[in-house]
Amino acid sequence: MLYNMEEKRQIVEKTMQKKISMLGADIHNVTMQEALSAIDGFIKEDGLHQVITLNAEILYQAQTNERLLALINKADLVTPDGSGIVWGADYLGMPLKERVSGIDLLWEICRLAPEKGWRIYLLGAAPGIADKAAENLKNKYPGISIVGVRNGYFNINNEEEVRDILKDVQLAAADVIFIAMGAPRQEYFIEDYGADFGVKVAIGVGGSFDVVAGAVKRAPVFMQKMGIEWLWRLLCQPSRWKRMMNLPRFVRLVKKTKKKQRL
Ligand code: UDP
Repeated sequence: MLYNMEEKRQIVEKTMQKKISMLGADIHNVTMQEALSAIDGFIKEDGLHQVITLNAEILYQAQTNERLLALINKADLVTPDGSGIVWGADYLGMPLKERVSGIDLLWEICRLAPEKGWRIYLLGAAPGIADKAAENLKNKYPGISIVGVRNGYFNINNEEEVRDILKDVQLAAADVIFIAMGAPRQEYFIEDYGADFGVKVAIGVGGSFDVVAGAVKRAPVFMQKMGIEWLWRLLCQPSRWKRMMNLPRFVRLVKKTKKKQRL
């Protein structure tokens, strides 16, 4: 179905109104379909739109990180990534429709890209990984226009290196840039330099390129459905245990918040 600009604007506005507020962060209560409609609208508008796929680890970090919390609340679209967020929202009496994860959003946007004519840029992950991810996406979605690929191992504090990347991104004239440098590093990079990308939509997608490239296996579907994808990631990458300690802390904080609500 084709929409005119006004209809598009109304859809985007309606989607944006569906927000819940959890632990100080606004999260859009959207389905994957609604998130894609919003992104389609963003691409038709001027300027940069930041999309954050928020998980419980990052929301917990944001409790003691003002910059991060402000950044989340400023984003154009914040989707519930991770079963922790979905559980927390349920527990606090604000059920969310579904989980919209970064990796699923990446697949869906790339699936639609050939038909929509969206130009895609991949920035992030170790050398070789983004290239392999681009190759796999081209095989899976023939006709997709991947206009730039760059690894995420550069010195973010080196002005010259950053300028070189920005130049490459600008020349590519992409519509959507996926940045896979881990959260919240990627979100900060978008906040600091997004206006210079010349793209309409910038999305931080964490370790997604590793999965798309086939270097890391995603959790089996039954684990995703059971809401224990975190356990799979922990088993595959035990070095994550330290940051994952934020998950039980998040659960405790949500329970404490609920208790306070009852008083
Ligand atoms: N990464 C990067 N640049 C860096 C550090 C990490 O591009 O300076 C990449 C890393 O190779 C991996 C991704 O960022 O592909 C982080 O993945 P992780 O699973 O930790 O992401 P998150 O859990 O934050 O979504």
